[in-house]
Amino acid sequence: MKRILVTGGAGFIGSHLCKRLLDEGNEVISLDNYFTGQKRNIVALMDNPYFEVVRHDVTTPFFVEVDEIYNLACPASPIHYQYNPIKTVKTSVMGAINMLGLAKRVQGKILQASTSEVYGDPQVHPQPESYWGHVNPIGERSCYDEGKRVSETLFMNYHTQNNVKIKIIRIFNTYGPNMHPHDGRVVSNFIVQALKGENITVYGDGQQTRSFQYVDDLINGMLKMMDTENDFIGPVNMGNPGEFTILELAQKVIDMIGSKSKIIFKPLPSDDPMQRKPDISLAKQKLNWEPVIHLEEGLKKTITYFDNLLKSDHSL
Ligand code: NAD
Ligand code: UDP
Repeated sequence: MKRILVTGGAGFIGSHLCKRLLDEGNEVISLDNYFTGQKRNIVALMDNPYFEVVRHDVTTPFFVEVDEIYNLACPASPIHYQYNPIKTVKTSVMGAINMLGLAKRVQGKILQASTSEVYGDPQVHPQPESYWGHVNPIGERSCYDEGKRVSETLFMNYHTQNNVKIKIIRIFNTYGPNMHPHDGRVVSNFIVQALKGENITVYGDGQQTRSFQYVDDLINGMLKMMDTENDFIGPVNMGNPGEFTILELAQKVIDMIGSKSKIIFKPLPSDDPMQRKPDISLAKQKLNWEPVIHLEEGLKKTITYFDNLLKSDHSL
């Protein structure tokens, strides 16, 4: 049995990760400040005596004895990470320093949840790990993009300078149950709008693309990455290479729900990447991993989740 710390454990991805690690017989500590995470996501795990819940902010040091750390604490939705951009940078940078310091002291392994946003609005398509990206350092998304880029730098520096055992994954757009219904990201927005019969808000002309990964595929990849030998540290892309325009996604959600919602167009936020699709050759080669859940299958499970949630809580 390993003792594992998950920062951002009450968030969308963190809650799935905590559940999976507990199911595999580990002792798990969730650390979260509940900025975007919710107790609802982890309440079902709280009966498990091997699950501990800590309210803490990663920008301040945290002392615990653990074997492994998954560092996920950071708001991920543009509206949330732009709400307090200075705090977003602090969470990424000071959070990484605190968690890397912890990993160094306990001589544990630490995995960083980095992002496809390190590629910015990419000029290379699809994006391989070797691409250095195209990021506006002073734009609206920079608090997140540059924060995550510095985190990667810190991870590499702690590895080369202090021999810390690191793993870096670059996560592409991921969706599934436990996303916050008002999180603001495209999949949750469209599903909630379609279920309520509200207008579907497509930003720009909807021709921008994203590649959507179902959360279970990501969790499989994260665990595989943590279990690799020390000589493979990444960064490695984790995403589903299936690429869709935002308009295609909107239509698919409307069709699957049988909704009467109409598509309306709203201004495109600044620096919104025009295309995104992972090159996952490295993950296939090093981890023998690739996503297996197709968009419609994942959307079906996610629609069921939101349908039940909206029926059980009419305030949402
Ligand atoms: P989320 O917002 O649901 O989860 C983030 C969690 O971190 C929340 O529970 C939040 O309360 C917590 N948190 C935020 N700031 C904190 C702080 N200062 N101290 C402690 N806890 C803090 O988002 P998510 O989609 O689950 O993302 C998890 C991680 O994966 C993030 O680091 C994100 O950048 C990364 N990621 C996600 C995606 C995606 O598509 N979901 C893509 C790329 C990278
Ligand atoms: N988007 C949209 N309508 C929404 C929410 C998002 O058209 O209600 C668009 C957004 O402009 C972007 C894409 O969907 O082009 C993905 O947005 P999201 O915030 O989910 O993720 P990210 O931009 O970080 O990839």
